[in-house]
Amino acid sequence: MKLTLSEAAAMLAHANKVVITAHENPDGDAVGSSLGLMHILHGMGKEAVVLLDDDIPAIFKVLPGYDIIGKPEEGQASVEADLLVILDTAPNRIGRVPEVTKAGTVLNIDHHRTNNGAAEYTYVDDTRAATAEIVYDLAKELGAVFTREPAMCIYTGLATDSGFFRFSNTTPHTMRAAAEMLECGVTANEISEALEEKPYQVVKDTAEAVNMAERFADGRAIGIFLDEATTARMEATEGFIGAIRVVEGVDVAVVLKAKEEKLCRVSMRSKGVDVSAIALSFGGGGHIRAAGCTLSMPFAEAKKTICTAIEQAIRDLQQAAVHKAGMSGEGH
Ligand code: AMP
Ligand code: MN
Ligand code: MN
Repeated sequence: MKLTLSEAAAMLAHANKVVITAHENPDGDAVGSSLGLMHILHGMGKEAVVLLDDDIPAIFKVLPGYDIIGKPEEGQASVEADLLVILDTAPNRIGRVPEVTKAGTVLNIDHHRTNNGAAEYTYVDDTRAATAEIVYDLAKELGAVFTREPAMCIYTGLATDSGFFRFSNTTPHTMRAAAEMLECGVTANEISEALEEKPYQVVKDTAEAVNMAERFADGRAIGIFLDEATTARMEATEGFIGAIRVVEGVDVAVVLKAKEEKLCRVSMRSKGVDVSAIALSFGGGGHIRAAGCTLSMPFAEAKKTICTAIEQAIRDLQQAAVHKAGMSGEGH
């Protein structure tokens, strides 16, 4: 069932014991919105824990509460709660969290336009740059007080999902929320320096990956395609796509990583093409300009499949532009 912001806030207000989770392979918004909501609820005198079914990258140690994030263990006793809150994803990418949580109600809060609404209760606002921005909205609705602890977490979610306030999803509301977090004691450079820091080997791997980049679709697309052996050798690949999306003339950037013999992870970024539609057609999701999916195919087939889909989407967009130009030219 779809909720309004005030209905979602009321569900939080009525719960006393809350389990918070977010998507596997957690990013700054997943970790930041989860810990941010946890601190807000603690401030309201409620019990709240964060459970994420994955390892949390060490760069997020800068966030207050990093050390108390729990991970579901095989055969562990179930955690009882009034409410399970799923953040920054539909309920399908949270691993074993539902198995170890006995919650009366499930509330899903997300900013992905592709959210399938499969949870018992869903609040989606795809105009928000980050789920952390919705956590900010909810906190405002609840009249919560922002101390430095939630502010650091919410700021991290806002900053990471908006490319530090540069991407097209950045709105005046995003920046006002961030400004308020700064007023609550956030030190912007402490967060950016922690998040930007990379091991020496990761910088070397990025150079190697960028060197492997191939342009296609007449230079309108660019990709890094990592076979299983290369993926296994490279530790942190998150920065690769940002390094190639800047190439002149490129609309779509893609990074494909073969994780297993028949399992490839795809990340896409765009300037014009709707990559969420491409991701959705393969069972993934995301936003118009940042999306991802998983292809259950061997490396070579996955590469061909995703390149063909991107080429087609670019062609469709070009044809639509020509059509539009032709239409507007009529009668002149
Ligand atoms: P990424 O390329 O992993 O940074 O993801 C870009 C965006 O697409 C993020 O908002 C993700 O949450 C979303 N996304 C990535 N992979 C998937 C997937 N398999 N299913 C649904 N959404 C995804
Ligand atoms: Mn995310
Ligand atoms: Mn997000």
